[in-house]
Amino acid sequence: MKDYGKGTACVQAGYRPGNGEPRQIPIVQSTTFKYDTSEDMGKLFDLEASGYFYTRLQNPTNDYVAAKIADLEGGTAAMLTSSGQAANFFAMFNICENGGHIVSSASIYGGTFNLIAVTMAKMGIDVTFVSPDCSDEELEAAFRDNTKLVFGETIANPALTVFDIERFAKAAHAHGVPLIVDNTFPTPVNCRPIEWGADIVTHSTTKYMDGHGAAVGGVIVDSGKFDWMAHADKFPGLTTPDESYHGIVYAEKFGKEGAFITKCTAQLMRDFGCIQSPQHAFILNLGLESLHVRMPKHVENGQAVAEFLSGHPKIKKVNYSGLPGDPYYELAKKYLPKGGCGVVSFEIEGGRAAAESFMKKLKLAAIETHVADARTCCLNPATSTHRQLTDEQLEAAGIPAGLVRMSCGLEDKEDLIADLKQALE
Ligand SMILES: *Cc1c(COP(=O)(O)O)cnc(C)c1O
Repeated sequence: MKDYGKGTACVQAGYRPGNGEPRQIPIVQSTTFKYDTSEDMGKLFDLEASGYFYTRLQNPTNDYVAAKIADLEGGTAAMLTSSGQAANFFAMFNICENGGHIVSSASIYGGTFNLIAVTMAKMGIDVTFVSPDCSDEELEAAFRDNTKLVFGETIANPALTVFDIERFAKAAHAHGVPLIVDNTFPTPVNCRPIEWGADIVTHSTTKYMDGHGAAVGGVIVDSGKFDWMAHADKFPGLTTPDESYHGIVYAEKFGKEGAFITKCTAQLMRDFGCIQSPQHAFILNLGLESLHVRMPKHVENGQAVAEFLSGHPKIKKVNYSGLPGDPYYELAKKYLPKGGCGVVSFEIEGGRAAAESFMKKLKLAAIETHVADARTCCLNPATSTHRQLTDEQLEAAGIPAGLVRMSCGLEDKEDLIADLKQALE
């Protein structure tokens, strides 16, 4: 929907019904699809024609929603996956196999860190982690001849660092590889990484896109800009024949705009099957219809809570890139001029015990392993996700024992602040 704004795309992009067709996206609750002749179906198996034959690979409901997200991010093609973990795994594994190497920001979601550092390592894929704030020399030194991609998160979960997308894109392109950006926290309402040079964008749609804590899911969006053929030797999976489809070459047959997502569907969905259910895609779409209305409210609440906490005597430190004085304030002004998200983290005086008793006293914010929901929630990593670490190990990992991560929901900010105030007293 090129001639319309992002809000209009949130509501109407992807599914455009014809005369007499359902106004709301139909849930195509069918595992399979009917054909009149074997020849018709054979063409689909050979990727000679596009269409549906089995929901493990593709389903129309998913494709409507994927098309909406591709539109929002400014990409050419997209696919939904069963979770954000599946989206990041597919996006990377589609171009980086056994013998390959990844350059990744060290400041990323714990699940993605584990995926790359442990599980993909078992598949023979190496990684070099760099600080998102590393020098140009350190970044340059991270690349190898077998590097296939660069990875980072626009706003990292949970560290809340802001990724310098343009700088990392330039470095990736100088080495003939694409930049993959996980844009879960800002969503395309607050940042569109493709405009800053990212080639592939991923999301855990479980977070703000759904926004109601109702459906786990993920998405991969291709910018359609990376020229695989210009770096053919690095990406043989896209530039040499796929014998499982009678020798088609994805980059030739589907071009820059379609090769990445077609290969990802035809090979990885076929073999791993991490498809999102059409029911979940429908729920995700309900969330997307109000994403542009909800994000400014999450930002307003996050900013108000961050400002309140930063003036409170019992709070040692607040991390929120919308606060002047935050180390990422300048980068946020560039990449997130309308604000980032509703997630704030802060350190309470008194460490683990103080954090625990503070959270117990909160009446509105629930203790949850979740973020980016309509309902405010919070978590103390030291007593939950990172409870196996000692105070010294926590400090070394940049997660002090008194750190609380709070995801500000859509409640009235006055009530959230009053709740924090009584809990701190
Ligand atoms: C939650 C999250 C993921 C993983 O997504 P799931 O949907 O839980 O699999 C990946 N990246 C980021 C930034 C996340 O916040």
